[in-house]
Amino acid sequence: MTAPLELRGVSKTYGEGPAAVQALIGADLTVAAGEMVAVMGPSGSGKSTLLTIAGSLEEPTGGEVLIEGTVLSGLSRDDRARLRRRHIGYVFQDFNLLAGLTAVENITMPLELDGVRSRQARRQGLAALEELGLADRADSFPDELSGGQRQRVALARALVGERRLLLADEPTGALDSHSGEGVMRLIRSACHGGAAAVLVTHDPQLASWADRVVFVRDGEIVDSTTPLPGPESLLTPGGPLTGEESR
Ligand code: ADP
Ligand code: MG
Repeated sequence: MTAPLELRGVSKTYGEGPAAVQALIGADLTVAAGEMVAVMGPSGSGKSTLLTIAGSLEEPTGGEVLIEGTVLSGLSRDDRARLRRRHIGYVFQDFNLLAGLTAVENITMPLELDGVRSRQARRQGLAALEELGLADRADSFPDELSGGQRQRVALARALVGERRLLLADEPTGALDSHSGEGVMRLIRSACHGGAAAVLVTHDPQLASWADRVVFVRDGEIVDSTTPLPGPESLLTPGGPLTGEESR
């Protein structure tokens, strides 16, 4: 099966000459359908760069990004925008809700941009809010919501419309630990539904919700915990004890 996300030797350099910053160096990462990957690393190590490039919000200076097997650099700008709207959901650190739109309008905006009729979009938006326990806040504006509620609206916006890839940059940064766990549970359940998720977090407790943790340092992916080998590998001669990495 084709992976929702694959990064092949992705690099990103900001600026030129002596002032250039190598934010990402030869990053390889594949995230399978249903898989939840946590990204950890010091501030400035390249985590946000990794996510924005994975989401096609920024172009790499080297390497390739594949979404569902499609090489992004081979697409026109319009096709890339469409793929982004349909397949990729983002949760930004500061939520990025539009202050002039209600909760449900924030959620349905990407659907409407994609041509879904407004009545149907609203139905989908309400269903998404309902799932997050926020049905009664559908017509509230962001400044009428608590931080935890705003975060859930941002998540609903990222998940509505059967998005296949969820990218979340420190989505729990502004939340207390109880709301943080709630966010993890929602991402987890999206993955149970077949979505792939990549989330940046500083909190090892929250990272432990993921199937795999990827560590970034100075622009490089330095370590990646491999998933536990399946039981069948124990039956194969030369199985997990030979040190052969699965990826
Ligand atoms: P993290 O999310 O891990 O804190 P970032 O991906 O935001 O790290 O940044 C990685 C490096 O790239 C840092 O040195 C940062 O200053 C630099 N950087 C990020 N975005 C830009 C930009 N738009 N222009 C120039 N430098 C940038
Ligand atoms: Mg960051």
